[in-house]
Order: sequence, then structure tokens, then C-alpha cells
Amino acid sequence: MVTIKSASDIEKMREAGKIAANALQVVGQKIRPGMTTKDIDKIIHREITAHGAKPSFLGYGGFPASACVSVNNEVIHGIPSDHRRVAEGDIVSVDVGAFYKGFHSDTCYTFAVGEISPEAKALLQTTEESLYEAIKVANIGARLGDISHTVEAYCRERGYGIVKQYCGHGIGRNLHEEPEVPNHGKPGHGMRLVQGMTICIEPMINAVGDEIIQLPDGWTVITKSGSLSAHFEHEVLITADGPVILTLP
Ligand code: MG
Repeated sequence: MVTIKSASDIEKMREAGKIAANALQVVGQKIRPGMTTKDIDKIIHREITAHGAKPSFLGYGGFPASACVSVNNEVIHGIPSDHRRVAEGDIVSVDVGAFYKGFHSDTCYTFAVGEISPEAKALLQTTEESLYEAIKVANIGARLGDISHTVEAYCRERGYGIVKQYCGHGIGRNLHEEPEVPNHGKPGHGMRLVQGMTICIEPMINAVGDEIIQLPDGWTVITKSGSLSAHFEHEVLITADGPVILTLP
């Protein structure tokens, strides 16, 4: 079921979104070579709980941490570890959610550790730009396929692979609600967007190829090609005045 949010729901969702976005911002300020992916998770956990919220991901489906931390060829759902250190030149996606006053938030950013290669920079830039291009079309009356197609076309034109097995989603009292928001699709197809919908748009883009592999840990997803992968996500409210991002610091 697609849930339509009231003004008071939206106020709470905005607060939940801000808490998650602020936590990501702190990671952005602190991330450096030598830090473990568990250190990053600890920052997220501390920032979210310090604001009276709960990490949405902790325990979700059995996930053992507060953030998904995915390095380089890891696409999504990387499990933070004391043994995994990030190094100069790595790209690190940090996906977080905060549960606050009955509502979830969900946002992701892929950080550069120190100086990264021009190829990595281009991948991050394209993936983030495709998110903002897709947000622009999230207007009342548009269809989900318009969002999906925007991400796909933007990234394909630049030669990148699109992850199809995972996608964006509705969000609210539940972390994952209907509808699904794929990163590939046909314009003019799918559900129409209506006022008060809240959806997460989250391009997951591979430098080479669409294919992915699920690791035996049951969580971590990597690119089949071994190439880098980037992931950016915002939560967007559909309004008469256009799309409003709810996951801003
Ligand atoms: Mg999400």
C-alpha cells in the first residue's frame, strides 16, 4: 500500500531525515585513510542515538550494524568490520536511516577517501547527478517510470552499468513501503505520483556492467566485473510546489 503523509507526518519525517543526513555529514568530515568501516558505523550510531533516534538499519532483517558501509567494488549492504580499513583512493558508500517519532528516514552518500582516481570521480559525479536529475522529475502527475528512466538514461549515456536487482522505495512508518522505485524503466509507465507520497530514489551505478554477486555473508553485494560502484540516495516528498528533499542536514 502506498501511504500518503499528513502535514504532521511530514514534519516528523523531516526531523528523521535531518538526523540521518547530519550523521552522514559528520562521516564526511571525519572519514580518512586508516579508519575501519566499523569506525564509520560507530560515528553513525553515535550521531543518530545522540539525537534521540534509533538507527533504522540496526537489526533490520538481522543486519548487525547501524550503517551499511560498502567500499569500492561493493555495491550495497557492506557490513562494518573492525578488520576492514579504508585507504587513500577508496570510495565508500555509507547508507543510513534514522527512526524518530514513529517514522523512518533513509539516505546514502558515497565518499571519496583522500585523492581518488579521475575514473572514480567521474563515477561519483554521474551517480550523484543522476539522483538530482531524477528528483527534478518527481512531480505530481509524473510516473515512476519517468524517475527510473531518468536515472538509467543519464548513466547509460556515460557508459555505466545499472544495478537492477535493488531499487528505491516508498518510506514512512516502515523503512520499505510501496512503491518500488527502480533505476531503470520506461518513461510514461508505472504509478502516477501524488501529493504527500514520500519515496527514496537511490541510483546504484557500476563503472562496468550491470551484473552483481551476492556474497556468502548474506548481505554484501559486489559488482561481478570487479569494478567500482557508487550509491547516492535521498528521500523525496511529492508536493504541489515540486519535489522536496527530506534528507538534508
Ligand atoms: Mg533505501
